[in-house]
Amino acid sequence: MSLTTLVENFPGFPKGINGPDLVENIKKQALNFGAEYRPGAIVQADLSHRPLRLSIDGEWIEAASLIVASGASARWLGLASEQKLIGHGVSSCATCDGFFHRGKKIMVVGGGDSAMEEAVFLTRFGSEVSVVHRRDEFRASKIMLDRARANPKIKWITSAAVEEVLGGAEGVVTGVRLRSLKDGRTWEQAVDGFFVAIGHIPNTAVFKGQIELDDDGYIVSKGGARTSVAGVFHAGDVQDRAYRQAITAAGAGCMAASEAERFLEAGGN
Ligand code: NAP
Repeated sequence: MSLTTLVENFPGFPKGINGPDLVENIKKQALNFGAEYRPGAIVQADLSHRPLRLSIDGEWIEAASLIVASGASARWLGLASEQKLIGHGVSSCATCDGFFHRGKKIMVVGGGDSAMEEAVFLTRFGSEVSVVHRRDEFRASKIMLDRARANPKIKWITSAAVEEVLGGAEGVVTGVRLRSLKDGRTWEQAVDGFFVAIGHIPNTAVFKGQIELDDDGYIVSKGGARTSVAGVFHAGDVQDRAYRQAITAAGAGCMAASEAERFLEAGGN
């Protein structure tokens, strides 16, 4: 949310709301109800005993219950030019930012289901959507790949890597420099929107070996908002790889809060 611009699909804001403003509003609302904020990074956790223990930048705190809502970070290519232009034509979220590229040329990087889904979605807005993938073979499922292949607005650039995202004088994306991974040839292509869809990394490293995680590091749900540890609940993208929307995460937060409250009322064991 804090990386995006206008959020148009969060209920209650008929004209949309800026992502950072939505974050600030939700924070203030929780403060009004007595929430306390403690900025810092959880660097270690011990969930094997009660109370649960968490180290915030080296200082241990105790908790009777815990809601893990640490999200999943978009995986980026890691180019300096890409990082500089995030929010100015570079995005990791087609649902959030596709609208801004109506009638424009769009590029999507990736060869998995996310890239296919984003490319198909973006054809609603863009005049043309190019998918750039580093191999000739796609990781995406057949059904998603077939759907994208059947879309006449989607063009394919395979066995190619993005060398640089080009920005114009106004600091917005104007194009991309690509390199063929077959013969090393480089060329530039004009685009207005550059979407990176090469996967997400759930922010669960600190809970590894304590909460049950799947092979990709997402929390395994034990029903509702429950995790494998009693009193520890999940909310949002840290467990959800399907919907990844602010509204679904907010709903999941409500579920987790209700379950945490019930857990504490029942004695916290
Ligand atoms: P993914 O399946 O891991 O695919 C990531 C893609 O990005 C791969 O094609 C990979 O290339 C490419 N990639 C990774 N790092 C790269 C880099 N540094 N430079 C260039 N390309 C790079 O991730 P995903 O597409 O986000 O999907 C994650 C999971 O969610 C999958 O299980 C997927 O099925 C699921 N999903 C399902 C749906 C749906 O059913 N509606 C929608 C979205 C996601 P290589 O192939 O060469 O490794």
